[in-house]
Amino acid sequence: MEVDESNLAEILLVDDNEDDVFITRKGFENARFRVNLNHVENGKDCLAYLRKEGEFSKAKTPDLILLDLNMPVMDGREVLAEISQDENLKHLPVVILTTSANEEDVLKMYSLRCSAYVTKPVSFAKFREVIEVLGNYWFTVVKLPPK
Ligand SMILES: [Mg+2]
Repeated sequence: MEVDESNLAEILLVDDNEDDVFITRKGFENARFRVNLNHVENGKDCLAYLRKEGEFSKAKTPDLILLDLNMPVMDGREVLAEISQDENLKHLPVVILTTSANEEDVLKMYSLRCSAYVTKPVSFAKFREVIEVLGNYWFTVVKLPPK
C-alpha cells in the first residue's frame, strides 16, 4: 500500500517552533515514500491554507495535518474545532503534535475527533524516530481518504 511513485505524501505541518519544524523535516528524510512537507506557523494560516485563501490559493489539500497546540495568533485547539465543523475539511486526518501532555488537552482534542495525539519527545533522536514511525504508519499502513 505504499504511496505510488507518481504520488507525493502531502503533509501540512502547523507549528511555530523552528527547531521542531527542523526535526520534523529530518524525521521524514529517510521515509520510504516521497514527501512534500509544507509548513505554516499558526492556526490562522493553517485554515487559510486548507481553504486555499489568499497566498495559499494554489495549496494542495494535505493527506495529513500535523498540528501543534500552542501557537500565536490562533492555537491548535481553535483550529481543530474549526476543521471538525467544516464539511469540506472534517475528513482530513489531524495528528496533534505538541509539548502539552495536559490531560484536559488530550481529552478535548479526542473529543474533537483528532486522529491521534502525540506528545513531542524531548530528545532530538527520539523526536525524529517518532516522526519516522508516524510517517510510516500514515503512508504505508493506513488507507487515507481519497483526494
Ligand atoms: Mg508551539
